[in-house]
Amino acid sequence: MTRTVIVTGGSRGIGREIAVGFAKKGYNVTISYAGNDSAAAETEKLCKDNGAAEVVLFKGDVADEKACEELVKTTAEKFGQIDVLVNNAGITRDGLLARMSAEDFDSVIATNLRGAFLMSKLVTKSMMKQRYGRIVNISSVVGVHGNAGQANYSASKAGIIGMTKSIAKELASRNITVNAVAPGMIATDMTAVLTDAQKEKINSSIPAKRMGEPADVANAVLFLADENSSYITGQVLGVDGGL
Ligand code: NAP
Repeated sequence: MTRTVIVTGGSRGIGREIAVGFAKKGYNVTISYAGNDSAAAETEKLCKDNGAAEVVLFKGDVADEKACEELVKTTAEKFGQIDVLVNNAGITRDGLLARMSAEDFDSVIATNLRGAFLMSKLVTKSMMKQRYGRIVNISSVVGVHGNAGQANYSASKAGIIGMTKSIAKELASRNITVNAVAPGMIATDMTAVLTDAQKEKINSSIPAKRMGEPADVANAVLFLADENSSYITGQVLGVDGGL
C-alpha cells in the first residue's frame, strides 16, 4: 500500500527535507506552501527524483480554515487516504515585548498554532476511520525554554506542545500517534537573517558547537511517523545538539 503524507510549509528549509525524506520511502507527497512557487516547484522535482509515488503542490495559508479544508480535500480525492500529517509551516515576527505589535503576535499564533490545529482536526476524521495515523508537529526549543525577542513565536511553539499532548491522549486508542519535534538552531532561510557574529555566539552556546541541518530534523520526523513507532505518542523530541 502506498502511504500519503501532507507536509505543510514543504517548499523550503526543514519542510523540503521532510518531504524528500518521505519521497525516498515511496510516499505520495502533498506539499503546502504560502506563495513561493519556484521553491515549491524545486521541491516537487526533488521529491519526484527521489522516488515519491506522486506529488501534489498546494498554495494556501494554513491559518485560513477554507484553505486547509481545500488542502485536505484535494489530497484525499487524489490519493484516497491521508496517513501522515506534518505540521511544519511556521513564521517569525521577532521583537521585544514593548515593541511587539498585536498584529505580529496574532499572525505568528495564527500560522504556527491555529494552522496546526486546523490541519490536525481536518485529517483526524479520516485517520480515525482508517484506524491509522501519524501527526508530527514542529515545535521549537524556544517553546520549552523561551527566548528574548520571541514572545509570540515561543508562545506558539509552547502551544504546539500542549496541543500535541492533548490530542495524543484523545487519539491514542485509534492507533493515531501525535508527537512534536523541537529543533534548536537549524540552517534555513529563517535563520539566514542572523549575522555571522550572532551565529558564532549561538554556536558557542550549543554543546555540539554547530547549527543543525534540515536533515537532522527530517530524520526525527521520519522516525516518529514510522509505522513501527506506534507506541510513542504525546512526546517532544529535541533536535538541538544538546542545547
Ligand atoms: P522557512 O525556511 O522559513 O520555511 C517556511 C515554510 O513555511 C515555507 O515552506 C513557507 O512557504 C511556509 N509557510 C509560511 N507561512 C505559511 C502559511 N501561512 N501557510 C502555509 N505555508 C506557510 O522555515 P524553516 O526554518 O524551514 O522552519 C520550518 C519549521 O521549523 C517552522 O515551524 C519553524 O518555526 C520550525 N523551526 C525552525 C527552526 C530553525 O532554526 N530554522 C528552529 C526551530 C523550529 P513559502 O516558501 O511559500 O514562503
